[in-house]
Amino acid sequence: MSQNNETPVRLVQIQPLKRTSAEAAASATSDAAEMLQLPTLTDWDIFWKKAYIGWRKVIGFTYTKHSYGATRRWLLAQVLPDKILYRWKPYQRGGCNRCGLCCKIVFRCPFFYENGETTACLIYKSEKHWPSACVAFPVDPYDLSEVQREVAPAPCPFHFEGQPEHPTIWGAVKAELRSELGKRVDKLKEAFNF
Ligand code: SF4
Ligand code: SF4
Repeated sequence: MSQNNETPVRLVQIQPLKRTSAEAAASATSDAAEMLQLPTLTDWDIFWKKAYIGWRKVIGFTYTKHSYGATRRWLLAQVLPDKILYRWKPYQRGGCNRCGLCCKIVFRCPFFYENGETTACLIYKSEKHWPSACVAFPVDPYDLSEVQREVAPAPCPFHFEGQPEHPTIWGAVKAELRSELGKRVDKLKEAFNF
């Protein structure tokens, strides 16, 4: 689990790992991923499974709060620049124990794989189809508490120590806009020799 990078691109969550194997525990994660024979999916398989997930999320708006939390995370992962999306990562502590519970809230994600001794996400490490919302989790304390509430009483061991300069999304967006505006003004001043 990457914890303290400024803008991590791939946070390890449910990636293939043979939990009960001493050999795998001693191996690097990439080695373990290679050891595990995961089912292969075509682009079409992935497209339909993602469509199914979207449909279940929409239906979920009528009967579960989790759909709102999951959609919030998905939207943030789509629209925010990394600098804002990952602003809480330097303060993130703990790690994923690969229990897989967050992949089975409300419905079982069709990309979730388990075989009795291991859990994995079939697309987590895909260059083309990686699940940006799952990779970004936990985006902030609100996001984390939403999932922790859903998987309780089982623990999701992430937590935060400290906070970024701009803890709220709106505060971070405003600060970024001010900074960009300031840079433009400086360039104009320089160009026109004010
Ligand atoms: S609930 Fe938390 S610990 Fe369990 S798989 Fe999800 S992120 Fe990992
Ligand atoms: S895409 Fe599905 S299986 Fe993969 S991490 Fe997200 S919820 Fe879990």
